[in-house]
Amino acid sequence: MSTELSGIEALMEITARPDLVFVRGEGSWLEDHTGKRYLDFVQGWAVTSLGHCPAQLVEAITAQAKQLINPSPAFYNQPSIDLAKRLVSASCFDRVFFANSGAEANEGAIKLARKWGRVRRAGGYKIITFENSFHGRTLATMSASGKPGWDTLFAPQVDGFLKARLNDLASVEALIDDQTVAIMLEPVQGEAGVLPASTGFLQALRELADLHGLLLIVDEVQTGMGRTGKMFAYQHAGITPDIMTLAKGIGGGVPLAALCAREEVSVFEHGDQGGTYNGNPLMTAAGIAVFDTINAPGFLDSVNERAQQLSEGLLKLVSKWGMKGERGQGLLRALLMDRSDGAAIVEAARNRSPEGMLLNAPRADVLRFMPALNVTADEIDLMLAWLDETIGQVRG
Ligand SMILES: *Cc1c(COP(=O)(O)O)cnc(C)c1O
Repeated sequence: MSTELSGIEALMEITARPDLVFVRGEGSWLEDHTGKRYLDFVQGWAVTSLGHCPAQLVEAITAQAKQLINPSPAFYNQPSIDLAKRLVSASCFDRVFFANSGAEANEGAIKLARKWGRVRRAGGYKIITFENSFHGRTLATMSASGKPGWDTLFAPQVDGFLKARLNDLASVEALIDDQTVAIMLEPVQGEAGVLPASTGFLQALRELADLHGLLLIVDEVQTGMGRTGKMFAYQHAGITPDIMTLAKGIGGGVPLAALCAREEVSVFEHGDQGGTYNGNPLMTAAGIAVFDTINAPGFLDSVNERAQQLSEGLLKLVSKWGMKGERGQGLLRALLMDRSDGAAIVEAARNRSPEGMLLNAPRADVLRFMPALNVTADEIDLMLAWLDETIGQVRG
């Protein structure tokens, strides 16, 4: 074991990690402690949305760090106001609360829905979520999630989350009672293997929510901030949700998240919500740099062009290898394989030499692609060529 790896026992063991220490990143490339480079199509699970260490993000963080890091959430700071204004102007929402992770933003959305239920719905508190959904790893967001096995892990669960089936309106309708306050979903289920909610389903959920006086909450932690080719994924369906959560890509790699709500839903009273790091200027300055890049003219057009290229390239692999297909929205895509060798392909891609490649298999027979939103056409072609070669190697 090399010097860089000695001492890993000091870290709490929470997942299987390869014996690699990453030391440097630039755009779509990461470099480990031996100097080996990796083409990164995971990007921290869609977190480093502009690639590793983009200049505009480094500059924004550096300049803000020299000026003011955190005056405390008890006082206003300019970057948080400026980022909130941008998010409000780009969306159907009126108010923003900044948080530090997707789970925390979702926890806030759940609290806001319950508060709204208390003041507007005579104490209603139940939230309908979906099988196989993923909303985070706090107790409440694990309870909201529909990940198999999570209902008994860390029992007892937080009460009040009922699971419907994605793209099955009747399964949602059947769960509504007089204590229901909200329906909460990911516009594209990410961890489940890139499963999009259909446009018709999202529109029908909005109608159903209106009919029963319920809130519609979109968890855009993975799909928001340009990932799907529009600033927010709900915009593809032309619907107006009541609450939206953002994290992952919004900070370009730093811990930043947002809870966005329409005015009539913003019912928190003083003391209901807070957090000592929330909305600090260092992170929100990073968020502004990311937002302005994504919002610049032409940026989302290039996301859509790269998405088209990735989709077509994956389809070629599908026909060459007799796989099932590909799906996704924008630069959140999945290859649906005919065999359960996803983990072996991920490992072989990482181990290839002289350069490796980072891929993700959210399920044994699904590979997920979440490149930087500014990935180049050449990088996509290179990934596709290396993937083809790796599949051949694994399948011998
Ligand atoms: C990653 C993710 C979360 C959790 O975000 P964290 O920042 O890891 O807490 C919640 N919802 C969705 C849809 C996600 O993809």
